[in-house]
Amino acid sequence: MIVPVRCYTCGKPLGHLWEPFKERVAKGEDPDKVLDDLGVKRYCCRRTLISHVELIDQVIKFKPMR
Ligand SMILES: [Zn+2]
Repeated sequence: MIVPVRCYTCGKPLGHLWEPFKERVAKGEDPDKVLDDLGVKRYCCRRTLISHVELIDQVIKFKPMR
């Protein structure tokens, strides 16, 4: 939904890396190399970014009524 601010497993801050990761992969760069470039080394952190599915824009319209 929303990219986790920190890695679920080790706690490394990752939220600020989502936008650059998404943009560079959309331009056709290899996700493996982008993660290396951004300094995301541990596989727990890599899975957090690489497996993220951004659904917030679809879900936001179902906000609770007050
Ligand atoms: Zn991690």
